[in-house]
Amino acid sequence: MLPRTWILGLRGGLLLVALVLVLPGSGGAQVESIGIAGDGQYTRITITSPQQLESDVVLTAEEEQLGLEWLSPALNVRADAYLAAPAGGVVAYTLLEDRIRFEIDRPMMVARLLEVPAPQPEGPWRYVIDLSEVSLVRFTRQSQLDSRRLARLSRAAEPEGPAATTAQIATSPSLKPAALSAGIADVTTPRKYVIVVDPGHGGRDPGALSVIGGQEKDIVLKAAKALATELSKNAQYEVHLTRDDDRYIEHEDRVTLARNWGADLFISLHADAAGAASVQGASVYTISTRGESRIDGAADKYGWEIPIETGTSETVSGILQDLVRRETKSNSAIFAELLLPELARAGPLVRNSHRQGNLFVLLAPDVPAVLIEIGFLTNRQDARRLSSGGGRRRAAAAIKRAIDAYFDQQELRLASN
Ligand SMILES: [Zn+2]
Repeated sequence: MLPRTWILGLRGGLLLVALVLVLPGSGGAQVESIGIAGDGQYTRITITSPQQLESDVVLTAEEEQLGLEWLSPALNVRADAYLAAPAGGVVAYTLLEDRIRFEIDRPMMVARLLEVPAPQPEGPWRYVIDLSEVSLVRFTRQSQLDSRRLARLSRAAEPEGPAATTAQIATSPSLKPAALSAGIADVTTPRKYVIVVDPGHGGRDPGALSVIGGQEKDIVLKAAKALATELSKNAQYEVHLTRDDDRYIEHEDRVTLARNWGADLFISLHADAAGAASVQGASVYTISTRGESRIDGAADKYGWEIPIETGTSETVSGILQDLVRRETKSNSAIFAELLLPELARAGPLVRNSHRQGNLFVLLAPDVPAVLIEIGFLTNRQDARRLSSGGGRRRAAAAIKRAIDAYFDQQELRLASN
């Protein structure tokens, strides 16, 4: 079989060539796809198979090359298998007879191993390896433990040949380091994420006027619908619009709606106006420190209570509320930072584009929220881009990529805590 080769650009213009040998196998553990995602701090490897597999994961450090091996007996990667390009902390990987060897560019630990059973009889089974960056000391310690464990296992299994080696691994869970065993066969039902998209203005409030004709309220409504369409392609997302026609909704009602839907993320869409016609580009707002001081007042006034278990003492619930608020603020900022590079791929950005506003719709104490100004209606180029279906779809796709990345990060963060 021909080797498969990747050439991929790395940051800094460096080119990396990863050579992958595909070894023919007969029967055995079939692999039909290998997915890799993440930003290095958190990386997820997903391997799918039509049947349940025996597998194990070890960390390796050989001649300064850090690595990770996914072991499975009689591995048979299908000729038409989907093989993702290396990503996150993974810089290359090699398919071998009884393992997949991943080369990594930083020390990482297995934060979670999941075996997700097939939703249908014909599959696929999913094997998820969540990795999070750790210190080199921690990595080295774990890889030493793993190599000793492997040596012990292969010695014990020598007379029976390689197949028994893996059988030995599979039947000796007590030899597995706790960190690796934890979470195996932990079945998770993927939860739904509730995303609320809020088209600004509406009804009696037209918002900004476009230089090529049209009003902000209509342009952002179309953009919001394009985003909802894009998001609804992912079954994991439940999407709500605060309005889907030309009506005005009070700011506090937008927040209340989002909280009642149990929003995980609130995205308000607007389009900007400036005195100078040359000003163009998108920008993203999160709550400012000044705006933050209004959260308490607004929450009291509109009854946006943070759900804390009843019976919690006043001091403790004060601390919990504070934590929720702080986490919400930090999640909003994380999402904003994910949005910027994606929006930059769909159009220009304003300088200093992550601004901190104290906009009322961002005041919910427990829903991460951003306000996106998708461009300037006072700029001809922006106005044209936002008035075209293609331009709106590009913006929607950019926002969706940021949302995907945001929830991926959240999942990995939860997994490694
Ligand atoms: Zn607006």
